[in-house]
Amino acid sequence: MRTIALEEHFVTEALTGYGASTADVAQPHVWAEASRRLLDLTGERLAEMDTSGVDVAVLSLNSPGLQAETDAATAVRAATTVNDFLAGVIAEHPDRFGGFAALPLQDPAAAAKELDRAVTQLGFSGALVNAHTNGVYLDDPSLRTVWERAAGFDVPLYLHPGNGYDTAHVLSGHPELVGPMWSWGTDTSTHALRLVFGGVFDDFPDAKLLLGHMGEGLPATLWRLDSRWAFHNHRGIELARERPSDYLRHNLYITTSGVCSDAPLLCALLALGAEHILFATDYPFESMSVATTFIETAPVSEADRAKITHGNAERLLRIPATPALVS
Ligand code: MN
Repeated sequence: MRTIALEEHFVTEALTGYGASTADVAQPHVWAEASRRLLDLTGERLAEMDTSGVDVAVLSLNSPGLQAETDAATAVRAATTVNDFLAGVIAEHPDRFGGFAALPLQDPAAAAKELDRAVTQLGFSGALVNAHTNGVYLDDPSLRTVWERAAGFDVPLYLHPGNGYDTAHVLSGHPELVGPMWSWGTDTSTHALRLVFGGVFDDFPDAKLLLGHMGEGLPATLWRLDSRWAFHNHRGIELARERPSDYLRHNLYITTSGVCSDAPLLCALLALGAEHILFATDYPFESMSVATTFIETAPVSEADRAKITHGNAERLLRIPATPALVS
């Protein structure tokens, strides 16, 4: 079955420095191996795609990516360079790779322009953002211009975790909880809820948000969000739709990245529907073959499996349903 994977990371030599803060969350030998694989785009990676049955990998700059840059002008230049680099790799293997753009959100107008260029000229499928940008989240009014562009092109923004802006007090004394094992998930699900309650999806009703890691826990929370919102002091926030779940069911799409487990998959399937779930592996931090075996054997209907492995990606990311024949 054709398999398209959406959260597949890479880095360039020039941008490895941004990863220094992330290196700390992994065991040193794990980070060293991941770093080596992140730099390889067409060697070992393609071989592993062949072995594990990943037909197309939609590549994205590894977290924290450009979000770690404090200087706006540097971020703008780096975005152009890295997106051009990725476009070159895709051009060499158009039937194997797609791309999510890196955006210099430090300069919202430039980020909107770069998203435009990435979609219309480089053929990218949208953009991937790693958490906050110098403390600014995607619901910030200054970034509506980026959402406007994404909604206008009908391409998703993929919100990927990164280190939090600060360390919540509840994590104090427990650095082992900081990182992808736990705190990145709560940071990202909270960021996603900022978009709902911050009115992004009221301004752009059909904007598409992608979250990895089986939706960062959100599919399990829909009933409680609705129940407590009905009870809650709304503190002046007015939503156009009645329930928080109305947004999550409509605007949210999730990937299976880094969660190879039937229970959360079935929860997401019941909560969001098969049209909102897409396959991903989270390479090189997870094994491609574990991920493909998981989705090939998950207890879902063949119709749903086809949507999750490729149908939804072909539709949302405009990846041609039939790869071009090479003579
Ligand atoms: Mn990832």
